[in-house]
Amino acid sequence: MTTVPTTKLPDGSTMPVFGLGTWNMGEAASAAAAEVAALRAGLDLGVTLIDTAEMYGSGGAERVVGEAIAGRRDQAYLVSKVLPSNAGHRQTIRACEGSLKRLGTDRLDLYLLHWRGGTPLAETIAAFEDLQRDGKILRWGVSNFDVDDLREMETLSAGCQANQVLYNLARRGIEYDLIGMCQERSMPIMAYSPIEQGALTRDKVLEAIARDHDATPAQIALAWVLERPGVIAIPKTSHPARVAENLGALAVRLTDADKAKLDAAFPPPRRKRGLEMI
Ligand code: NDP
Repeated sequence: MTTVPTTKLPDGSTMPVFGLGTWNMGEAASAAAAEVAALRAGLDLGVTLIDTAEMYGSGGAERVVGEAIAGRRDQAYLVSKVLPSNAGHRQTIRACEGSLKRLGTDRLDLYLLHWRGGTPLAETIAAFEDLQRDGKILRWGVSNFDVDDLREMETLSAGCQANQVLYNLARRGIEYDLIGMCQERSMPIMAYSPIEQGALTRDKVLEAIARDHDATPAQIALAWVLERPGVIAIPKTSHPARVAENLGALAVRLTDADKAKLDAAFPPPRRKRGLEMI
């Protein structure tokens, strides 16, 4: 059992820095058993954070998560997301209730607005606050919010607890400003697609560094993300063995020479770029 380190949220609570993604889960009945097994393998190894969304598999991913955590809800830190098309006040509350039902639980640890749509932010925030008051969510946050969106959010509420955005070696744009802004607020960045949807596992530079560490390219990509204070990695895999492999990234310590090689292959941003999304 691994003790996954935690990072602090603005409300003073803590959240694990390593979790499991679930995008593409719950789409095919034939894959469900492997998906449930992978999430359970994570729980067995001490990985409590599970990231899902009503969008994934049109609710199917939440059902897979529900099956994986059945009888062990208290072991899990559950994150789900409301679609922008459901982000009106009444719709958000209904969407959350749907997620809770599929997950087989009475509460989410963290509920995120998946990305910003046409609904005024104030309306979604009001719904989040009602859900929080009723104990259906313990806290709320956002996803795919760039600096300007977060600033606007702050004029409306101080309640946002996390921002989930695309971040990995090949997508370093947020290092220019967003990471620093979130760190100042002790607001975790949940780095999604931390191994670039698998592409970084086939990178030659990562392969060479991995050999030096007796590690795998996925572990190097994840160790690099996890080095940053306040950044959480949520890789997805439907293979129990890869859950263990990815978790092993916590033990990898990149050297200055490794980091220089990675900076040369994947240069940090020199100017502001709009937030990328997948
Ligand atoms: P990831 O970067 O986590 O990569 C997942 C892919 O990599 C899968 O195809 C997986 O295949 C493969 N993989 C995982 N581990 C390994 C390994 N050790 N070796 C080789 N291949 C591996 O991409 P995701 O886009 O899934 O991002 C992670 C999570 O972030 C999502 O699942 C979701 O929860 C969240 N997300 C949030 C978004 C948002 O807008 N808020 C957008 C995108 C993602 P296999 O399963 O076969 O192992």
